[in-house]
Amino acid sequence: MVASSYTPEFPGAPSTSANESEDARNARLSALLAEPLRDGLSAEELMDPKVSGGLTYNDLLILPGYVDFPANVCSLESRITKRFTLKTPFLSSPMDTVTETQMAIGMALNGGLGVIHHNCPVEEQADMVRKVKKFENGFITDPLCLSPTNTVQDVYNIKESLGFCGIPITEDGKLQSKLVGIVTSRDIDFLQTDEERRRHLKDVMTTNLVTAPQGVSLIEANTILKASKKGKLPIINEQGHLTALLARSDLIKAREYPWASKMAVSKQLLVAAAISTHEEDKIRLKALVDAGLDIVILDSSQGNSLFQIEMIKFIKQTYPAIDVVAGNVVTQEQARQLIAAGADALRVGMGSGSICITQEVMACGRPQGTAVFRVAQYARQFGVPVIADGGIANVGHIVKALALGASAVMMGSLLAGTTESPGEYFYHEGQRLKKYRGMGSIDAMEKGDAAGKRYFSEGDKIKVAQGVTGAVVDKGTVKKFLGYLTAGVQHSLQDIGTRSLNEMREGVVNGTVRFEKRTASAQLEGGVHGLHHFEKRLFS
Ligand code: NAD
Ligand code: IMP
Repeated sequence: MVASSYTPEFPGAPSTSANESEDARNARLSALLAEPLRDGLSAEELMDPKVSGGLTYNDLLILPGYVDFPANVCSLESRITKRFTLKTPFLSSPMDTVTETQMAIGMALNGGLGVIHHNCPVEEQADMVRKVKKFENGFITDPLCLSPTNTVQDVYNIKESLGFCGIPITEDGKLQSKLVGIVTSRDIDFLQTDEERRRHLKDVMTTNLVTAPQGVSLIEANTILKASKKGKLPIINEQGHLTALLARSDLIKAREYPWASKMAVSKQLLVAAAISTHEEDKIRLKALVDAGLDIVILDSSQGNSLFQIEMIKFIKQTYPAIDVVAGNVVTQEQARQLIAAGADALRVGMGSGSICITQEVMACGRPQGTAVFRVAQYARQFGVPVIADGGIANVGHIVKALALGASAVMMGSLLAGTTESPGEYFYHEGQRLKKYRGMGSIDAMEKGDAAGKRYFSEGDKIKVAQGVTGAVVDKGTVKKFLGYLTAGVQHSLQDIGTRSLNEMREGVVNGTVRFEKRTASAQLEGGVHGLHHFEKRLFS
């Protein structure tokens, strides 16, 4: 029905012929209203280089769609490599002020993925990978054991260095040996004096054990553990030898983090790590794979090199179970070369990072919106996902990157400054900050030298910086911060009128999701303006 207040003489309204009846006019207007409109521009029109040149995230907006669902139903599931899918499309950068063990655990628990940096000795990086893989197990297949002749002090030492003290006691202190007891904090809590700490575990351990037989399914074992009200459930074979352990704390973690990025069978958290394309990093990669690595990222600002192509081929041939994220690239030709070499995903971005001076110094790079769109447009044909890396400063940037074709975003500055990022907080002019630096900054390269790394070609005598050193504000824990990013993206999807990232991307490809360019004054209008002062709190 058309509103009866319609007035044909309304300025701009189509003129009505004198002999058109009211019913005919209403029918004509109803038909007009039934037709969906395509306002704004398709992504392809927006990115037309003849019209726009390169666009950054700030240069564009997505037009709102139709909302008939709540925001929290929106799915953020995304495939980040040919074989791996995450519940949330968030990756942390392989930078030494962003991703080490704690960040990688935090990212994976919350549905994302941490990429451990390589600006350190091989063993250190491998150890970080190992710790992430060990963090949450379905079954702990290599639990730490002690023997009856170990002392209470030994348990305290383990508690101090590893943070847990529920330890199975076997005849010879090893796995695959007869289980004789278990020691938990309740057995040793009150044994504090030197004499008490020297007591043998055989005198303090609990021997009344609830166990499960080898071969029990994870679901059955969980049921036994829950019913037993114990902290740990030892798994034993027919001879009573210990073969594995299940921890109540891991069950609780699994409940708290339903979106955790895990391997389907082992239930271990997913972890990625970066290496360079230098020949010696083949040794690094072996150590990482031995430590349990799932995805390797070839870390280079200019990925289209002979070094990288050969490294991709080597990895695909030597470690077929490992997915390779190649990059960085910003053009379709760069993408073609790396896809042809066997890349399982591409990392896109050159010069867009917050700490980056690459475009200034190298005169190379591409505005990030255009780079993501063009590379994703090409890579899509081969089923190769694209990770938009760098320049993400807010939730809106994440959504724009995903709308332009990225399957996930990689963030440095947004995640630096969280509790889980490496480094200590410090105060400057009343603000709580953490250090954040580019991996191509002199500061980081000098640390790399000390750690035996090399960022340069053999003959380079002078270090040419591509990044700076700075600081970012405290952002609290990753759990809360990623929760904010997730909810923010879901609300944005709702505004766009699409129930999932896949639906949004399809809408972009088929032209139903529309865009508009943002002039400089539109950008001013879109920010807070005209206030004497204001407080910007992003979430609570
Ligand atoms: P890189 O290791 O790719 O390149 C450093 C130098 O080593 C280059 O001259 C390269 O040609 C050379 N090289 C690489 N492999 C080689 C081999 N096998 N044999 C001989 N020479 C070889 O590292 P980069 O591009 O300088 O980046 C360093 C760090 O800084 C990385 O963490 C990177 O992510 C970061 N960065 C990123 C950007 C960006 O825009 N995304 C920009 C600059 C730096
Ligand atoms: P941010 O999220 O905008 O802070 O950008 C992080 C990204 O910047 C990283 O994932 C890298 O791709 C890139 N990067 C890291 N170190 C440097 C550097 O020294 N110079 C330029 N870019 C860098």
